[in-house]
Amino acid sequence: MAYKISDDCIACGACADECPVGAIKEADGKYVIDADTCIDCGSCESVCPVGAPKAE
Ligand code: SF4
Ligand code: SF4
Repeated sequence: MAYKISDDCIACGACADECPVGAIKEADGKYVIDADTCIDCGSCESVCPVGAPKAE
């Protein structure tokens, strides 16, 4: 299980700053979560202004 960022992402970067394990990186103007690194803490979903990160 891991979180995944949907196409609703507006690339604000807030989630990357919040992730405790550094699983979120910018890639081609979007932010993506490395599923192997994500520990399912939910912080990215809490901080996202558009609700883009979702638990898979
Ligand atoms: Fe990082 Fe937690 Fe979001 Fe996973 S759920 S990407 S560990 S902030
Ligand atoms: Fe995208 Fe939300 Fe992360 Fe901002 S906080 S970069 S909108 S997923």
